[in-house]
Amino acid sequence: MKLSRLLMLCCFAASGAWAGEAAHGAHWEYDGHNGPARWGEMNKEYEVCGLGKHQSPIDIRKTEMKVDLPELAFDYAASPLKIVNNGHTVQVNLDAGGGVKIGDHVYRLAQFHFHTPSEERIQGKPADMVAHLVHKDAAGKLAVVAVLVKRGKENAALKAVFDNMPIAAGPVHGVEGLAINAADLLPAKRGYYHFEGSLTTPPCSEGVSWYVLSTPVEASAAQIKAFRGLYKHNARPVQPLNGRNVVERAG
Ligand SMILES: [Zn+2]
Repeated sequence: MKLSRLLMLCCFAASGAWAGEAAHGAHWEYDGHNGPARWGEMNKEYEVCGLGKHQSPIDIRKTEMKVDLPELAFDYAASPLKIVNNGHTVQVNLDAGGGVKIGDHVYRLAQFHFHTPSEERIQGKPADMVAHLVHKDAAGKLAVVAVLVKRGKENAALKAVFDNMPIAAGPVHGVEGLAINAADLLPAKRGYYHFEGSLTTPPCSEGVSWYVLSTPVEASAAQIKAFRGLYKHNARPVQPLNGRNVVERAG
């Protein structure tokens, strides 16, 4: 299966998620009978959710500080606001959102979406939410930049998104006259934790490079509550490291 197809199945669009589930007759959830512990058995294509050794998310505890890690050279741009409630999260699709250069890789930003609480933990602790910015390079390799969100002041960058969240799952919905620039979502400091992992939703495909920014951004209690009104809990539990190293770039 090609990565582009995996991206569609995982979380690219409502139509992709629904088509995938309808075809397999399996409807994965975050809790209960079809929860994360069972994803790997739900159908053959989700097998790596149970058998994979480089799964995400993880609890970031021991890190190795490195001075030669590349900076995240963001080159994001404003793109018309296209938003979808895909039944698992609220996602913003970007047709012209720019990208990020990491070392020799140039990645294009395809979409970002949210989880609550954050899937990734730092020293065992989740943040209130996380935004996952999903990028793809020309060869189809995925890189996800995770921006942790903690309760604080209102997040102006997310206002347009949170004010326009579709309350029920459905098709992608363009918001007339509004654009979003993912650059506005980023904290000023760009230090990160890096490791190799996977998609955090079925089919849990591996070969995904993760960059978890060490500095969180803030969102108001009302904004977090608005998202939790749609998705109270949409976080996969942390997965074993299985010998992986987490490297850290100061910032
Ligand atoms: Zn995610």
